[in-house]
Amino acid sequence: MEKYLLKDALKNGYAIGAFNFSTLEVLKAIIASAEKQNSPIIAQVSESAISFIGEEYLKDMIKAARKNCKVPISFHLDHGKSFETAKKAIDIGCDSVMIDCSMLPYEDNINITKKVVDYAHSKGVYVEAELGSIAGNEDDLKVEDKNSCYTSPIQAKEFVERTNVDSLAIAIGTKHGAYKYSGEAKLRFDILEEIQNQIPDIPLVLHGASGVNEVDVARLLELGVDIQGAKGIPEDFLRKASKMHICKINGDTDVRISYMVGILSNIESNNKSIDYRGYLAAGMNEVAKLVAHKIEIYGSKDKAN
Ligand SMILES: [Zn+2]
Repeated sequence: MEKYLLKDALKNGYAIGAFNFSTLEVLKAIIASAEKQNSPIIAQVSESAISFIGEEYLKDMIKAARKNCKVPISFHLDHGKSFETAKKAIDIGCDSVMIDCSMLPYEDNINITKKVVDYAHSKGVYVEAELGSIAGNEDDLKVEDKNSCYTSPIQAKEFVERTNVDSLAIAIGTKHGAYKYSGEAKLRFDILEEIQNQIPDIPLVLHGASGVNEVDVARLLELGVDIQGAKGIPEDFLRKASKMHICKINGDTDVRISYMVGILSNIESNNKSIDYRGYLAAGMNEVAKLVAHKIEIYGSKDKAN
């Protein structure tokens, strides 16, 4: 197996940003920013991103990115819902896959995760699973607040032992999508601490961790995007979690927000042009700025070596 980036993050008390992409432009912006910050980076695709890009195109995008990228980069499947999807992502060339059966009964989650782990490890690929359930909306994923639940630290230990999974996504109060909190933001660091005591050698993963920058939300509202009331995870929470055993922090919503701020602002100021490269470059520029800021928060700057 190739070097597992999350192990170094665990050992040295930082987290690696995992950013979703659905287009070549976003991927290139993520990579350019990571190179500038000399940071390891994770680029991830959801099932719907794989179908949007197309399997053959994605395979070659990954190949080209790997060849050109000057910092350690890992390609990851985000929220694979079945063994078949995980297998597809492994065939495409992902270094790690997430199998998310957290909404199934516990024993089913264990069985399917175990099956994916056995197959993935035979191909030199790492596996992330989820225990507990994270609320919110993301792509085809929908979990009502009332159906979400925190990860049980005791169960986490048993789950890892029985599945041999490499990393674990935990539920401690984050939420998918742009609308995370109606009131005050809250994360259960006490549960995180108990989990890391139970499974000290397992890198933990935070989903639904977008910051949903207030300035960007205000700008999008000005530009006519319906994003009223959007609210994300405070930066201080993410700084603290990164120093603990959270080794991978996902952010899909933040990438979408930044990309659209760049594109729409450029269209507003440059609406006479049909050269779409100007709009896309402005979007890429905003994504690169976002990634650089996240790298600073997560503490992975200059950790590429
Ligand atoms: Zn997620």
